[in-house]
Amino acid sequence: MRAAVYGGDGRLGLEDRPMPRIELDDDLLIAVEACGICGSDLQILNVPPGHPATPGTILGHEFVGRVEAIGAGVTAIDVGWRVVVDPDPKCGICQSCQAGRPANCEHIVALGVYRDGGLASHVIAPAAAVYRIAEDVPTARAALVEPLACVINGTNRAAVRPGESVVVMGAGTIGCLFVAVFAAAGAGPLIVVEPNPVRAAVAAAVGADVTLTPEEFQERRQALLPNGADVVVDAVGSLLPAAIEAAGMGGRIVLFGMNGAARPAIHQVEITEKGLTILGSYISNFTFPTAIRLVEAGSLVLDPIVTTVLPLDQVVDGLASLRSGDATKVVITP
Ligand SMILES: [Zn+2]
Ligand SMILES: [Zn+2]
Repeated sequence: MRAAVYGGDGRLGLEDRPMPRIELDDDLLIAVEACGICGSDLQILNVPPGHPATPGTILGHEFVGRVEAIGAGVTAIDVGWRVVVDPDPKCGICQSCQAGRPANCEHIVALGVYRDGGLASHVIAPAAAVYRIAEDVPTARAALVEPLACVINGTNRAAVRPGESVVVMGAGTIGCLFVAVFAAAGAGPLIVVEPNPVRAAVAAAVGADVTLTPEEFQERRQALLPNGADVVVDAVGSLLPAAIEAAGMGGRIVLFGMNGAARPAIHQVEITEKGLTILGSYISNFTFPTAIRLVEAGSLVLDPIVTTVLPLDQVVDGLASLRSGDATKVVITP
């Protein structure tokens, strides 16, 4: 099968790989229908990498597909099911798993990062990481379930109530998914800060009331949010200083974006004086079922987020358009 393989040092190449085979009793063989490209894939392909990964691994961790074969020990899943996959399989028995913090599982071996993922026609996944999804969910929307599950973890932590003001910083896929969920939850005003006009337009299409460049936000913040924001989301990974400034008294800040190189200087006393709550949000947290229900019910405006759908042999072009900011979510159909 053709596969998009991480070669180390910023390289991604198409290679011929043998069809993967079921080896463990709880393995599933999944034929990939579609696989999104993530900001963390770009980070993996940066030199030096902004996110670690194992060279030789097939990338792709946001995928939907169909179960083609099951291991001898699989009882609750049938061949033929259409499924989405949690690419961070949990062990279920470490201290974090048993304490109800699956995101902090000590034994995650992420698909598409440290073991083969979905940028290929087929992939092996453990049965416990697989969730059934309805047949009638359009392909591109189904490919958004994984990032949406991660965002639901963040929106659960933010616990926005109707009428609360929200600022989302960064309108890539993650920022736009936050906007879609907050809009459905009745947030308002819902303000997006994003320098790229293409991405700002996507944010507006999925529910932002106002989109501003960082400069415009500095100028108009006082007028738009005289009391500061109830909730601020950093979907970039280096914007905590700006988030602290934008938050109002008693505000909540969700830190979602990840940038391992960022060491921003913090005006700490402002956190104390405003009584801010700072919430880290990392991957999903028992949130796949909610994400699947939302896409199946059509409760969110999601379709504008997927700007590009390409076959596997154009994966390098897809990465380039994501990197340039022309695309929001690129979905590959192997
Ligand atoms: Zn991702
Ligand atoms: Zn664990």
